[in-house]
Amino acid sequence: MASTPAASEAAETPDVLIVGTGFAGLGMAMKLLAAGHSDFVVLEKAGEVGGTWRENTYPGCACDVASVMYSYSFAPNRAWSRMYASQPEILDYIKRVVKDHALEPHIRFNTEAVSYEFDETEDRWSVRTGSGREYRPRVVVLAHGSLHQPNIPDLPGMGRFKGAMFHSAQWDHSVDLKGKRVAVVGTGSSAAQFIPEIAGTAAHVDVFQRSAHWVLPKADRPIKALEHRLFKSLPFVQQLYRLTAYWTHELPVLAFLNPKFLKVLEAASLRMLRKQVPDPELRAKLTPDYTIGCKRILLTNDYYPALQRPDVDLITSPIAEFTETGIRSADGELHEADVVILGTGFATDNRCATEHIVGRDGVTIQEAWRDGMTAHLGTTVSGFPNMFMLMGPNSGGGAQSILFVIEAQLHYIVECLRLMRTRRATRMEVRAEVQRAFNARLHGKLAGSVWNTGGCHSWFLDHTGLNRQSWPGTGTSYWRATRRPDPRAFRLTGRPDRRRLVPVPSPTGAAGSESTD
Ligand code: NAP
Repeated sequence: MASTPAASEAAETPDVLIVGTGFAGLGMAMKLLAAGHSDFVVLEKAGEVGGTWRENTYPGCACDVASVMYSYSFAPNRAWSRMYASQPEILDYIKRVVKDHALEPHIRFNTEAVSYEFDETEDRWSVRTGSGREYRPRVVVLAHGSLHQPNIPDLPGMGRFKGAMFHSAQWDHSVDLKGKRVAVVGTGSSAAQFIPEIAGTAAHVDVFQRSAHWVLPKADRPIKALEHRLFKSLPFVQQLYRLTAYWTHELPVLAFLNPKFLKVLEAASLRMLRKQVPDPELRAKLTPDYTIGCKRILLTNDYYPALQRPDVDLITSPIAEFTETGIRSADGELHEADVVILGTGFATDNRCATEHIVGRDGVTIQEAWRDGMTAHLGTTVSGFPNMFMLMGPNSGGGAQSILFVIEAQLHYIVECLRLMRTRRATRMEVRAEVQRAFNARLHGKLAGSVWNTGGCHSWFLDHTGLNRQSWPGTGTSYWRATRRPDPRAFRLTGRPDRRRLVPVPSPTGAAGSESTD
């Protein structure tokens, strides 16, 4: 193969290579700096930082986690304008953090990692980028997000539609919705945020709902000038707000794990539905037929009112086919549309499905995960030494702020690196039997949770029905579990050690090797 100019350059050999500049990747960079490691690079496929908050620019995009809990604990934002921040404000915060912590020199923009191969002789990863450049880090941290591959459904006749069509995470701002007939497919968290925004601009909006979602009010309001002054002069006041938000997110998790307690939340949601939607026929269509919490609850005050506008229709007859001019529902009606917006969520079954990641013994991540995504504490995968994941399998999906989960993982990874150093190990890999036992316990605990038993199919479950997203406990229990890596859970080896290795089965059954220690 002819080598590109970039390929002929000498490989960079940082100690740590981080992939992604969302909250997770940037948080990792900051934690490494704080721990005294500056020998790292961060690869970013785009020309800007921000991850999901850069990608999702749909109208009304905002966070449904309180803003005080949606910032790093070690980089608090005293200036949030609202109790729940909007996408532009969150993106501004992320950019400010990059500046304040001088992270930019570490970031390689417009650089997409396209392959990762573990070099067993050197105990280093060989990471290649789209331009053919090679990085040979000791450690790779995958921080490329769990909700980033748009789920584009394969609905009959979709290719025939002649109008504009785009996914909510790839919003086409060149399409002016003013005066257009718009069809929205999906009624999840994203759609519930953009439907109220486009209703009124578009001439007409048809909302195609496959299943109703549970809705609760969003306690959003502007943060007052007095509160801002207090946050700045007495930071513990903002800490108190954070603590309140933390427990507000933590308590529902206990009910998600013990669904009998969910009746209280269901009653609150039904009360809101009755109050906001007087029409019994529409109310019946909007009443979910599964237990609350089984899918992510929508926090919104303006979704139900938007659906009752005269220029908005809720269609519950399933989509039968797309035509050149619109969508025909199963009841035979053709709903003419100029624009179709897919609020159909993300592909979550195997977030590394398209990645070329080759670990020990030439095993690919697809082979290791042929029965589904599995990891230890959502951060390490047996067979893939010196590789850490952020927001990996079964580490999120509850109600706690994902930033809290990420911070627990950042701490854990820094501790793992410390363990490698103190043990003079050049290779660290979670033991297959530890990962297996951990997952058996984890899935046992999830079995009774509302995510598994609530009678819905959500993105938490994979195609086999197994929950690959949720941590079966509170944020606090995850925090406790990730305080200190247990050295016994890992194979920690230095290069000379491996002269006395004995063969043992690898995670896929092929012969691998394990130290005799
Ligand atoms: P989602 O919650 O997965 O919702 C997707 C919607 O599309 C559902 O209503 C689903 O129907 C529908 N759908 C999917 N495939 C379909 C098909 N073939 N035909 C008809 N309908 C179809 O996706 P999302 O709204 O993008 O949200 C995903 C996640 O992103 C959220 O759960 C949340 O974690 C995160 N998010 C967070 C925020 C925030 O404020 N922090 C905002 C947006 C998103 P069914 O329900 O019947 O499957």
